[in-house]
Parts: sequence; structure tokens; C-alpha cells
Amino acid sequence: MMSSPLCIDHLGIAVESIEKTLPLYQGPVGLQVIHEEMIEDQKVRAVFLQVGESTIELLEPTSPDSPIAVFLAKKGPGIHHVAYAVLDIEAKLAEAKAAGIRLIDETPRPGGHGKLIAFLHPKDTFGVLTEYCQRIEQPD
Ligand code: ZN
Repeated sequence: MMSSPLCIDHLGIAVESIEKTLPLYQGPVGLQVIHEEMIEDQKVRAVFLQVGESTIELLEPTSPDSPIAVFLAKKGPGIHHVAYAVLDIEAKLAEAKAAGIRLIDETPRPGGHGKLIAFLHPKDTFGVLTEYCQRIEQPD
């Protein structure tokens, strides 16, 4: 039996400007910022807003060669990826691989907000960039 994800960990949303986007999420949508960080290897600034157990992750490129900059140029702002919280990310990647799904990350890497993450290839997931995400112990 394959193991089910625990919940939607977060939705990644590509934005041109976090500055310009936050008034929507903090205003009418009514969310609160719980965390913010620079994810250096992705060349993005990320701001996390809490929605119950889940978060909205706003992603703004910090460089023209950021994957988020490439996404914005191709598709414009919008939902970039869906991230599932999983207990055992290695096992979930092995399951995906066994099902013939290509992996962007063969091994998990550190993501934002103290997590291990790995992406599946959107060509094998019907156009939805899919992330698995395992919460790891945080120093704070
Ligand atoms: Zn993510």
C-alpha cells in the first residue's frame, strides 16, 4: 500500500512582486505572514501565509534566471506548484519513480521553512508541478 500525504502543505504562487501582492492576502483574503526567507538555490524570496494547517507560499524571483522568473515569463503570475506534506519523502519518491514518473529531484533537498522537498516532473503529473515536502526539526 502506498502511503497517503498528510495534507496540502502549501500552494506555491508565483508573483512579480510580493510587496504588491501582500495587501490582497493580508487584506480581503485575511491571512497572516508567519515566515519569510530567501531561498538562495532557487533565487527566490518566499513569504509564507498561514491557512489553518497549510500555507500559501508567495514566490518572487530575485534574479532573471530564477525558475520563478522563467515561469512568470512563460505563464504569467499564478499557481506555480502544489505541495503535499508527507511523512517519508524518500519512500514517496521511490513510489513515484516505480510508477514511471520522472523526478526533478532524485534526492530530497532543503526547501523553504525548514523542510525537505522534492519535485515531480509536471510532464508526468498532467501539468501540475507537484512537490513532496517533509517537515524536519527546526532549531527555533
Ligand atoms: Zn513549495
